[in-house]
Amino acid sequence: MPELPEVEVVRRGLERWASGRAITDVEVRHPRAVRRHTAGAADFAARLRGHRFGPARRRGKYLWLPLDDPGVCVLAHLGMSGQLLIQPAGAPDERHLRIRVTFADPAGGELRFVDQRTFGGLSLHRELVVPDSGALPDVIAHIARDPLDPLFDERAFHTALRRRRTTVKRALLDQSLISGVGNIYADEALWRARLHYERPTASLTRPRTTELLGHIRDVMNAALAAGGTSFDSLYVNVNGESGYFERSLDAYGREDEPCRRCGTPMRRRPWMNRSSYYCPRCQPPPRPRRTVPVAPGKAGTRNVSRRPGK
Ligand SMILES: [Zn+2]
Repeated sequence: MPELPEVEVVRRGLERWASGRAITDVEVRHPRAVRRHTAGAADFAARLRGHRFGPARRRGKYLWLPLDDPGVCVLAHLGMSGQLLIQPAGAPDERHLRIRVTFADPAGGELRFVDQRTFGGLSLHRELVVPDSGALPDVIAHIARDPLDPLFDERAFHTALRRRRTTVKRALLDQSLISGVGNIYADEALWRARLHYERPTASLTRPRTTELLGHIRDVMNAALAAGGTSFDSLYVNVNGESGYFERSLDAYGREDEPCRRCGTPMRRRPWMNRSSYYCPRCQPPPRPRRTVPVAPGKAGTRNVSRRPGK
């Protein structure tokens, strides 16, 4: 799955090559690619024809193009292997070409959705203005702002973290708290912040949260910078599956390799049907809560760390 930086690279490509352009035709070559558009392929094409794409938008890993038809937008699902490409008009079709969008000015190429595994696709949605959250396609109206969003509310995020009885990596992957942080970037940011993935969020101080968010932004910006070299070519996308950023990862995928900070072999642990990579020395697991009997002869324990004055 492409993560936020990869999706942002695609967004910038669309912004440059598709936004503002008038659509003359849409050819749906595989019905699966528009299956999320329940009115069907013919309706999808008819509602795009004659319209113009507005500025490309992104929230977390979601990407959409508003139309000049007010309140209507095209949401792109990249899935596992989806790519959005700008190709010169008349260039040979890709083997897995699913949707072709032809523009009124063919000199700028045509937009193609190519998807080998057809888990992705395009669909039309209403774009809603959600209070405190901005304009969003209706189906993703619950998705929180991402850490690269200038309007991301750090204070509210910290308060929400402290309130949740959860662990830090689970919280980072909760799209209703913070969007766009996937498994890879969570492991990278936690390694940089020297935080174990099972650390309870209730134990994070405000400076710790600020530091963690700073690392998340740094990791994402580094990935964006690495992908930035192809912006000027006519080739819009990348499918984030393997990615240009892989060789500079510090934690993810580095089981048994030495920690780049202390040399200790990195570990991998199964985590929610995925894996967590961490350094056992730099990111020690949270200590189990110490308990002591409340009073002799009485059942029950008391949590020492919560004792007033501690
Ligand atoms: Zn280490």
